[in-house]
Amino acid sequence: GKIVIAIDGQSGCGKSSTAKAVAKSLGYTYLDSGAMYRAVTYYYLQNPFDLGDAESVSRALENVDIEFRLNPEDGSQLTFLNGENVEAQIRQMEVSKSVSKVAAVKLIREAMVAQQRKLGAAKGVVMDGRDIGSVVFPDAALKVYMTADLETRAKRRLRELSADGGVYSLKEIQKNLAERDKLDSSREESPLVKMEDAVELDTSELKFEDQVNFVIDLARE
Ligand code: C5P
Repeated sequence: GKIVIAIDGQSGCGKSSTAKAVAKSLGYTYLDSGAMYRAVTYYYLQNPFDLGDAESVSRALENVDIEFRLNPEDGSQLTFLNGENVEAQIRQMEVSKSVSKVAAVKLIREAMVAQQRKLGAAKGVVMDGRDIGSVVFPDAALKVYMTADLETRAKRRLRELSADGGVYSLKEIQKNLAERDKLDSSREESPLVKMEDAVELDTSELKFEDQVNFVIDLARE
């Protein structure tokens, strides 16, 4: 039967591209939990509010409606914020720089986790993030914890962002990945941790196809 596959790990280690390919191959739905934190962050940058004040956060969340829709052209997932396609905007460095700060807020996490659980209730889901195996789906039948060394991750991300027309330096990207890793692993609410029942997958030396097949083989077991 169909299962839930939880893929967690540090920033830029290939979680989303792997998860997408696994989902496609198994006929599962891919869900990008990071896109939701990025969408809230985009909202926050457009409509600043006090992240430390519960009332401000609650009020802001009432005005945040996140939705995933399929791109009719290629079947890829598009993130909509309040009815607007923000897929390109949420991948910008400006959002990457603030997202870990926004994602550390308890009320924001609670709202995102509730929506993620609803979206994942159907089974046959691959979800990637930082707390999928620990908090969102602690009973997931398969948990994968992905890693890769920082330089490899930064080089891959630079390639992706450049392909999308972005102009960034390797140094800037490496700094952002390292900063997010630090904040995401040290925060009080649902920090990034490797669960005991997660299978570790270090992609530093792997070809993309091999890391995808590694997860597919585990899912078929
Ligand atoms: O996955 P992605 O790198 O797009 O996630 C962006 C940020 O969102 C992460 O650096 C982290 O701060 C936050 N995040 C999170 N929990 C998740 C997914 C993402 O805190 N499940």
